[in-house]
Amino acid sequence: MNNEHINMNTLFWFRRDLRVLDNAGLYHALKQAYISGGTTQCVFVFDTGILQHLPKKDRRVRFIWDSLLELDAILRGYGGTLTVLVGNPIELIPSLAKTLKVQAVYINHDDEPQSLIRDAAVANILIAQQQQLYSYKDHVVFERNEIMSQQNKRYSVFTPYKNAWIKKLSTGNSFYTQAYPVDRYTVAFSRSTPTVDNLLWQSKKFLNQLGFDEHYKMLTPAGVSGANFVLNDFINRMENYANTRNFPAIKGPSYLSVHLRFGTISVRQLVNEALQRIQTEGAMVWLNELIWRDFYHQIMHHHPQAMTQSFKPDYDRIVWATGDKAEQLFLAWSEGKTGYPLVDAAQRQLNQTGYMHNRLRMVSACFLVKDLGIDWRRGEAYFAQHLNDFDLAANNGGWQWASSSGCDAQPYFRIFNPITQSEKFDEKGIFIRRYVPELASLNNKHIHAPWLANNPLFGKTNTNYPAPIIDHAQARLDTLTRYAVVKKIGNVKISLIKEI
Ligand code: FAD
Repeated sequence: MNNEHINMNTLFWFRRDLRVLDNAGLYHALKQAYISGGTTQCVFVFDTGILQHLPKKDRRVRFIWDSLLELDAILRGYGGTLTVLVGNPIELIPSLAKTLKVQAVYINHDDEPQSLIRDAAVANILIAQQQQLYSYKDHVVFERNEIMSQQNKRYSVFTPYKNAWIKKLSTGNSFYTQAYPVDRYTVAFSRSTPTVDNLLWQSKKFLNQLGFDEHYKMLTPAGVSGANFVLNDFINRMENYANTRNFPAIKGPSYLSVHLRFGTISVRQLVNEALQRIQTEGAMVWLNELIWRDFYHQIMHHHPQAMTQSFKPDYDRIVWATGDKAEQLFLAWSEGKTGYPLVDAAQRQLNQTGYMHNRLRMVSACFLVKDLGIDWRRGEAYFAQHLNDFDLAANNGGWQWASSSGCDAQPYFRIFNPITQSEKFDEKGIFIRRYVPELASLNNKHIHAPWLANNPLFGKTNTNYPAPIIDHAQARLDTLTRYAVVKKIGNVKISLIKEI
């Protein structure tokens, strides 16, 4: 035992890490309590500062609540319990720490700019109370300055970053993906119930009292059990991932993003799953996606200004469409009524389920920015509100990739043709028919461009599906003109740019 800190009691504050096993911050909180003969209490805070901006029908709140119920049951199995509070964590966490008389509060890093401000404020109050805040990396494999170039420069291009990431992982001899052996110390969980009314949150009426519709839930099962269920379903499909991941009608991707977002699964575990199958192309490509996730997180850390501005500042000179017409176009896009079936199916998938397939995120984002000429930040905000897996770093990265304003983004002249994308990635229109049933009777050719079916040569569609809200060929030219204000591309002759 460490005699320096006799009976060191700790408080672990769960945030985007709703699991007990392989949880870095929880491991350290428990270990410290265990070796000093103290105990660990656990808390989660429903942050009203965040909740007040969410719609009443928000699937994520129900997901968190379901995950917390399971987390509490798991903690009880170990002899612990979960305290759940509602309010401002900057006040609640130091106040609880004071009530419980713990020596330190433990958390995992959350590198979103607002979260860093929150955590610094909590740390300051704790210090004034002679308590400490300890924070650990848990959410990603490598973070902050861990992957730097040989000249100690930060990366803003993915491929060299990925190479350095893989090199560091392999020289680490599985150190970086080892699970934190939390179960060794679980006897330190405290059973005593803190002096707050701790059971109200488990009531069925709780979400309603919080202002949310409890019936509004995700298709994905919540909690660690949900994450394991989704992972087990994916494991056998992983080797086919490279061939299936681009086709939204096929069960190709893992659907694990929401679990990664809320930490109901550990990213280290997932990297290990990929490494075990790394001889297959599917596992290699899937690992690549997990590396993209780390990449965007370190971009957020190094360039927090890019969370509101273009990563490449020149791109903020672009003048986006505004006014009544632009508002109508934005509404049509958000509701899935653009007249472009794949874009509409994508948006309807998002609105109906909270998930959107990665290929469709690219197509839909590109359509909003480069066909409708609307600021990427508006689409980013819409996705942020509707995506179950909304994650600031990845969402911002995805939107800035689509608008070409990001680090390692697609070139500005790459403008997805929504019809070609549809023919290529939903050839038989299976996905479109699923979400745009009014087009179900069209043949596989016309389903990608239904207005052609109204051509006298082909007959009529007989549906109330909208006509295209924009002519893609014209929109493409308008976009190239719009982007010409960007300094480095201003001299390029539009007529010389080939369509991709
Ligand atoms: P899989 O294909 O199984 O990939 C495995 C995991 O890798 C994902 O769960 C995710 O954590 C990570 N990943 C995959 N692709 C990316 C990527 N391009 N960037 C970063 N991480 C990635 N992902 C989010 O998690 N949250 C978001 O808010 C988000 N917004 C996006 C917005 C746009 C415009 C675009 C183009 C992409 C966005 N992505 C976002 C990335 C990607 O679309 C999703 O991670 C993926 O579709 C989630 O499905 P999955 O879990 O089945 O992914």
